[in-house]
Amino acid sequence: MVRYVYDFTVGGRDMADLLGGKGANLAEMTRMGLPVPPGFTVTTQACRAFLTTGTEPDGLAHEISEHLTTLEEAAGRRLGQPDDPLLLSVRSGARFSMPGMMETILDIGLNDDSVFGLAKASGNERFAWDSYRRLVQMFGSTVMGVDSAVFEQAMTQLKDLRGAPDDLHLDAGDLAQLVETYKNLIKYETGEDFPQLPAEQLRRAVLAVFESWNGERARLYRRREHIPDDLGTAVNVQTMVFGNLGPDSGSGVAFTRDPATGARGVYGDYLSNAQGEDVVAGIRNTVPLDELGRLNPEAFAQLRDHMGMLETHYRDLCDIEFTIERGRLWMLQTRVGKRTAEAAFAIAAELVDEGLITADEGLARVTGDGLARLMFPRFDTSAVGDPLAHGIPASPGAAVGAAVFDSAEAVRRAAAGEKVVLVRQETTPDDLPGMIAAQAVLTSRGGKTSHAAVVARGMGKVCVCGAEEITVDPQGRRFTVGATTVEEGTVISVDGSEGAIYPGAAPLVDSAVMRYFETGERSAGLVDAVARAMQQADGVRRLGVRANADTPEDAARARRFGAEGIGLCRTEHMFLGDRRQLVEAMILARTNVERERALEGLLPLQRKDFIGILEAMDGLPVTIRLLDPPLHEFLPDRTELAVRLAAAEAHGNPPSAHDAELLDAVNRMHEENPMLGLRGVRLGLVAPGLVAMQVRAIAEAVVERKRAGGDPRAEIMVPLIDTVEELRLVREEVEQVLAEVSKASGVPVECPVGTMIELPRAALTAGRIAQEAQFFSFGTNDLTQTTWGFSRDDVEAAFFSAYLDKGIFKVSPFETIDREGVGRLVEIAVAEGRAARPGLKIGVCGEHGGDPESVHFFHGAGLDYVSCSPFRVPVARLEAGRAAL
Ligand code: ADP
Ligand code: MG
Ligand code: MG
Repeated sequence: MVRYVYDFTVGGRDMADLLGGKGANLAEMTRMGLPVPPGFTVTTQACRAFLTTGTEPDGLAHEISEHLTTLEEAAGRRLGQPDDPLLLSVRSGARFSMPGMMETILDIGLNDDSVFGLAKASGNERFAWDSYRRLVQMFGSTVMGVDSAVFEQAMTQLKDLRGAPDDLHLDAGDLAQLVETYKNLIKYETGEDFPQLPAEQLRRAVLAVFESWNGERARLYRRREHIPDDLGTAVNVQTMVFGNLGPDSGSGVAFTRDPATGARGVYGDYLSNAQGEDVVAGIRNTVPLDELGRLNPEAFAQLRDHMGMLETHYRDLCDIEFTIERGRLWMLQTRVGKRTAEAAFAIAAELVDEGLITADEGLARVTGDGLARLMFPRFDTSAVGDPLAHGIPASPGAAVGAAVFDSAEAVRRAAAGEKVVLVRQETTPDDLPGMIAAQAVLTSRGGKTSHAAVVARGMGKVCVCGAEEITVDPQGRRFTVGATTVEEGTVISVDGSEGAIYPGAAPLVDSAVMRYFETGERSAGLVDAVARAMQQADGVRRLGVRANADTPEDAARARRFGAEGIGLCRTEHMFLGDRRQLVEAMILARTNVERERALEGLLPLQRKDFIGILEAMDGLPVTIRLLDPPLHEFLPDRTELAVRLAAAEAHGNPPSAHDAELLDAVNRMHEENPMLGLRGVRLGLVAPGLVAMQVRAIAEAVVERKRAGGDPRAEIMVPLIDTVEELRLVREEVEQVLAEVSKASGVPVECPVGTMIELPRAALTAGRIAQEAQFFSFGTNDLTQTTWGFSRDDVEAAFFSAYLDKGIFKVSPFETIDREGVGRLVEIAVAEGRAARPGLKIGVCGEHGGDPESVHFFHGAGLDYVSCSPFRVPVARLEAGRAAL
């Protein structure tokens, strides 16, 4: 037979699935011998049964009444007994803490008779009526569905009438009157009387807590926190203790350490003569917990003693809810407490030092997300005012600068030494120079994987995107939020960690953790704690960590951050800027001679880039991807060009021969779906000389580095392979060029040639592809686009938020790898690739390489390394370590 109810003396903390977090921990504290008011827990299983069938499961009522009898016998009083009532609290408590999301009802068992009994037994009439009015209020709103504002209004009216500054100034008579008012309000609002039978109160309260699982607030919270909807909540039924029995009573919350910094000490709040709800509700001002030391030294000493016991027992920061009844301390709740990223690292290091946990356990207690937060400068939260607007926190950190509204202005002002924030409706590749010049990027449209967000994250630049409250007016060079207008040049502050925008220059606090990664300078406290976690992670991780870097500066930084090579060196930026003209000439070339001349112009420039990168990564692998994007990305925009030429013509200036040619080329190369068009390996196979030029630049850079005594380890990676045939053809060309350069220079050049796996067909035929490929690298951005059939640039703005709201996916597949679909392709390709070529080296170089959850997946899938932007390298190292635990 299923058992639905467990006494606190029976459960324990390993039963949280069944008893919920609160119930499991109440049982644990009971077992530890701490003073916990007796009670029992109704399981989450009972809740699930109730929610699916709509009725109480068989036997539940009986089990509850049996446990109630046990409580009553131990207390020597019955629930709601008229002359001396036993009172109960009915408390929700799910597997994962959902603070304030569900319901708790206190003082069950009071009615028109037992309130007098309570008054007499306690010798405190005011207390009895105060408790009764709380019950009617909580029961009325939670169980009977009356808007709680109705009760609050009645309370306010009475306080005004009496001239009472707070509820403590209402006397027994006032409170008795309030109870009458409340009961009338309930009757008026629901047509029903407040139930007088204690057993009925209890039963209905339990069911109301079950139902609160599906309340709107709770559902929203679960969606945001990625908590499954089908877990249900447990219900804890517990003997009441009273913090509202006078000045020697009270209620409070406590932390065993400072949850903000991890520092040891006494942290918390206390409110005397109050029931627990009042502490969080903020209806009266609490005092700092150490004040309790003066008010009640004995209870305080006992509390500290219990806190020490709990921390040792849980081997972690605990938070605690307690009540003091007439000088006697009762423990009402504990759990492993939430904490800031800073506190997480500090506490982990301290607990390791104290010998409470192992270094591996310490590593498990910190996260890559937390580390990322610590790497950015922050606004001093105590000093900033109200935000001007909110958006999506797309790339963390804090930045201050003058608002500018186009890329050119950003570049111009930055060159003059001014700090700027680039504000755009959304960004495109044309905004790149401005993004590089700016301290931060702010957009009014687009999600976490919009162009602005992705590029900013890649650069480690602060970004808030999708700030829909603001209206950007690029022509007028200003943006507006409600009635506020921010003109170009006005200083604003952007908090990419919180997704907030502040007016003016908010004060900044520097990141010591970032300084540590940049310089290796290790200081005491937080930095030392981070350094130790990193050391531990590097010691245990199996996954290598490389960086995506396209410039010597990025490569050098990545190396300082611990990158063990470059997993993706994109060559496309080498075709931008002044070089665009050469690229244009190459595309427009009508003869082989013209084309070769253009390619020859590009060659020395590319070679120089590669030399710099190979030097920065000397001795470590550098995976260079051959040109990937469609060529027309390097030509002017089709519509803009057509409009410009038409306008010129209207003014009597016919297009020049060059312009006409350009327009012709742009039209010829126009593609409806460029991401699925002529790009990647396809381009290399149809644009003569392009692959050879790039490979020559790489090979000659290798030669030059070797001659300089270096240890260059270039690897050549072919993008967007569908079939092994494509790779075979390109590889022949690559090898021919390598051989030519070796021969001509007398320096042997051997570069492994591998491929990206970023199309489903490539993943599914990985066994064949591996026959030609010396390594694989998953391009999970394109693989996600092509597996889902999502055009990333289009879908995010169009419907991703709707998909997230509907729960179709819990997180964007561009942010965290979709294990079921894309992940499945990865697993197939790993298995078949390695079967065909044992020991095949396999990495990943998409955005996902720096995403903590995805790193865990890649570890499990048996990859050799992940590659991510330089700033994510420490995060990936840490998570790769955690994945190996
Ligand atoms: P939440 O999960 O929202 O914190 P709780 O179930 O912890 O809700 O209840 C809120 C508060 O109600 C507690 O912090 C405590 O002060 C008070 N409370 C709950 N049960 C009891 C009890 N048995 N005796 C006295 N106060 C209680
Ligand atoms: Mg609580
Ligand atoms: Mg790709």
